[in-house]
Amino acid sequence: MCKAFLWSGQASLAGPGRIAWNSVCQSKKASGLGFKNSLIWIIAAIGKHVWAVAEKKDNLWVKWFHHDYLKQEDWWNYSAPINSSWYWRKIDEVKGKLRSLIERLHVHKEDYHISKGYVYIHSPLDKVYWGKEVWGRLNTPKHSFILWLAIHNRLNTKDRLKRHGVIDQSDCLFCGEAEESCEHLFFNCHFSLNCYQQILQWLNWRTKLTTLKKVIRWIERASSSSFQKLVFSAVIAALLYNIWKARNDTLWLGKSMQPELIVHNTKVSVKNRISYSLPKKISQQDRN
Ligand SMILES: [Zn+2]
Repeated sequence: MCKAFLWSGQASLAGPGRIAWNSVCQSKKASGLGFKNSLIWIIAAIGKHVWAVAEKKDNLWVKWFHHDYLKQEDWWNYSAPINSSWYWRKIDEVKGKLRSLIERLHVHKEDYHISKGYVYIHSPLDKVYWGKEVWGRLNTPKHSFILWLAIHNRLNTKDRLKRHGVIDQSDCLFCGEAEESCEHLFFNCHFSLNCYQQILQWLNWRTKLTTLKKVIRWIERASSSSFQKLVFSAVIAALLYNIWKARNDTLWLGKSMQPELIVHNTKVSVKNRISYSLPKKISQQDRN
């Protein structure tokens, strides 16, 4: 069976960078990007007809099906004849997937909606602990996307490219002293640590940032207002994005960037974003 992934390309064909389409189609709270799986959506849409037949809805189409095809047979035990229309056979084919849902709706006297059928077939995953921080309202979307890839460990860092045989050398481009992994690049490299120290000073944070997971946990547990937590998340997302961009500019354009410039870019992007979407009601402390 062919498996779908978020994107294709030379590197992704070799392995790294891919996120399974089923994961991408999960909601943002449950680790995905909230895309709809079109195949499941189509099945859920056909489910509307399954439900209409099961409920003997009062319309001409359903009456015709009952009269010409089902007659007195039980819908759930019925099998469409091989010479019946393609459309009718498809309806018959998907009904098993939705039977439990439709029977439950019948008991509760509820109507069928395609969205209900979709959620039922798609089986959403549980919420993830990092949903709020990655998709925070104050995050710039492109920053959120890089943070989302980092949290899935799907950025094409050199350690992963080397593991998949795409490259031979995996030295960190900033320090050259360790292998470039997500954890090293963003949290252990002295280049990134320099950026963090400046950001921590700017925001007056007193914490040590050692892994992405710990940073997110720290934001969650911080005794700060929800607005401040949104700002923290936006800063982390912007900083990761700017470190990743600096790394790519070094790799592909031969540019070398100083931590001061990365910190400056991070501050400017976060300030712009916040001033653009600052809520009307905000405490003086949060405003400061
Ligand atoms: Zn390094």
